[in-house]
Amino acid sequence: MSDERVFVSHAPGDGELVGRLFRSIRNLPFDVHVAGEEVERGRDRGSLRGRIDESSVTVAVLTPAGASNQWVNQEIGYAVARGVDIVPATSSADLLGGYLAGSDTVTLDGESMDRSVFELLSALRSLLAPVGGLDTPKWYLPFHCTVEGCSAAVTLDVDRDQPGLWRLHDHGRTIHVDCGECGARYHFDPGTLAFLRRETPRAE
Ligand SMILES: [Zn+2]
Repeated sequence: MSDERVFVSHAPGDGELVGRLFRSIRNLPFDVHVAGEEVERGRDRGSLRGRIDESSVTVAVLTPAGASNQWVNQEIGYAVARGVDIVPATSSADLLGGYLAGSDTVTLDGESMDRSVFELLSALRSLLAPVGGLDTPKWYLPFHCTVEGCSAAVTLDVDRDQPGLWRLHDHGRTIHVDCGECGARYHFDPGTLAFLRRETPRAE
């Protein structure tokens, strides 16, 4: 899972939307390359083809602006030519044309971003699954304890399947992990894997 890379193709004006979509996903142990950020770092967008070559998956953010953006369309065409899997994220199936017509999509809904993030996680989880395993691919979220003076490495194992995680989300439940050093408990949203809160054990 950790060698996997994801490229995100989007219109320049959709940077904030991309940020919301990927906020928690970026904590997972694979690289996410967002076209707009690469360009801000001084790269010419045409040179991002190398990023697509290195990617296992390209996520195409097809808002009305994205669907009509020439860079986005060229990046989709390039990914198709290179055999890179494409996950379209769109607010309307009408925006899916060309190579992506009829594709399974992540539904973009600015009002209910949790569901969009969950659908994107589900798509990535199926595409980035380790080859050869028949069991549920094991996902994990590594981080460092934020308790002052601790900073131990902690790993949240995500071993439930996606429908199971969404059921927990729907019921307002969390998934959690304890720091092995100091006992602090970290709660995450099962649907989006977003960090929710930390409980610190009381000093005795
Ligand atoms: Zn700790």
